[in-house]
Amino acid sequence: MRGDIDIHFFEQRLNKRLEEITASLEAGKNSASPVELDQSRVGRVSRMDAMQQQAMAQAAARLAGAEKARIRKALDRVQSGDYGYCMNCDEKITEKRLRFDPSVLFCIDCARAAEQT
Ligand SMILES: [Zn+2]
Repeated sequence: MRGDIDIHFFEQRLNKRLEEITASLEAGKNSASPVELDQSRVGRVSRMDAMQQQAMAQAAARLAGAEKARIRKALDRVQSGDYGYCMNCDEKITEKRLRFDPSVLFCIDCARAAEQT
């Protein structure tokens, strides 16, 4: 194990976040199911409402899924002892950055470079 950050603290946060996301994805399954198109049950306006809500729920589910994948990867790196180091350049990720989001896999420089491409 390398580095001087409190890996255990971040590991706990990652596991907790993973549980939260899993729970919210479960809860969101119903709202992300196909929109009810039965006109006799829902009016045109409320149907559009439902479709909008569905789109939002799907977008949220996609984001949650991506975060979940990142957290899994971060937990893998806890196991391998690489947690806290950039996956791209192997430089240390600042503790401040990890505290803001424990699932970050890249240092600030690489994250910025990736955004620009
Ligand atoms: Zn980097």
